Amino acid sequence: MPTFKVHKVSEDGYPKESTTTKPDELVGDNILVKTTASGICGTDLHRQHDVFLGHEGVGIVEDVGRQVKYLKKCALVAWGFVTGSCGHCLLYLQEEEVFCRERCFYGFQNAGQGSFASQAVWSEAFLHVVPNSLSDEDAAPLQCGGATAFTALEGVKPTGTVAIMGVGGLGHLCIQFANKLGCRVVVLSGTSSKLEEALKLGAHKFTSMADYEPEDFDDVWKMNRLLIATSILPKWEILLPILAPKAVTYALSVSFANLEMPYIPFILDGISVKGSLVATRAVHREMLGFAAFHIIKPVIETLPLTTEGMKEGSNG
Ligand SMILES: [Zn+2]
Ligand SMILES: [Zn+2]
Repeated sequence: MPTFKVHKVSEDGYPKESTTTKPDELVGDNILVKTTASGICGTDLHRQHDVFLGHEGVGIVEDVGRQVKYLKKCALVAWGFVTGSCGHCLLYLQEEEVFCRERCFYGFQNAGQGSFASQAVWSEAFLHVVPNSLSDEDAAPLQCGGATAFTALEGVKPTGTVAIMGVGGLGHLCIQFANKLGCRVVVLSGTSSKLEEALKLGAHKFTSMADYEPEDFDDVWKMNRLLIATSILPKWEILLPILAPKAVTYALSVSFANLEMPYIPFILDGISVKGSLVATRAVHREMLGFAAFHIIKPVIETLPLTTEGMKEGSNG
């Protein structure tokens, strides 16, 4: 087995080349993947010194372990934030393996490797086949950002209104998915400069949070689901008047501040706030098929998969 190139976060916060060596033989259902594309997620930028970088990986199957059953050499596959779980607990059996206590997370249990790398070794069970119509570059950002956005839209009705706060890496995928799921899509933005981009991505209504009027939101436009895709904490006094009864709010971005909210309105209107984490494998695969069929693509800037390219991408 080869020693291959990976990248860690150096003292100055930028990617630094390193190496990983794997055992001579691929064990169990492990697969050696030659990385061809990687996204850069906000979580990569938050990582502390010495963590192996990259968790939006796409690549070609180079070699397979003896217990690999389905994937063949040369298949285009992808992986995201979660790359393993115990395989037997109740959460696993209920298709909630991302919450399994023995889950393998990016940056915690991923055995010294990531997608900012020449190769990687993962379990077949946590690799996803990339549909033919998706390029590796377009598929990469879907592995964490796309999975996160699609999970937060599970169960929305095409008769409902979905609001998205933020038009960044996560928000621009949320807008596209919500539009293709048939929902009315509202973008709530801190600045009117995102208007044109939001409409182009599929928003039906754009509201600048700085100067919106509650009267702009009649019952049809009251939000059944609110996706917070910005690290700016929600201002509930602004949001509550435009949430529909029983609305569900998902906080998708990472913030280390407390999420505070007024108590009574949440009871009287049955409002809920839900936590979610990337996607289960079943939802992840549905997301890839949905994105391929509806031609949902991330807006990307391509850089070479080299240390220099990674450094440039890490600058934002
Ligand atoms: Zn991520
Ligand atoms: Zn488990």
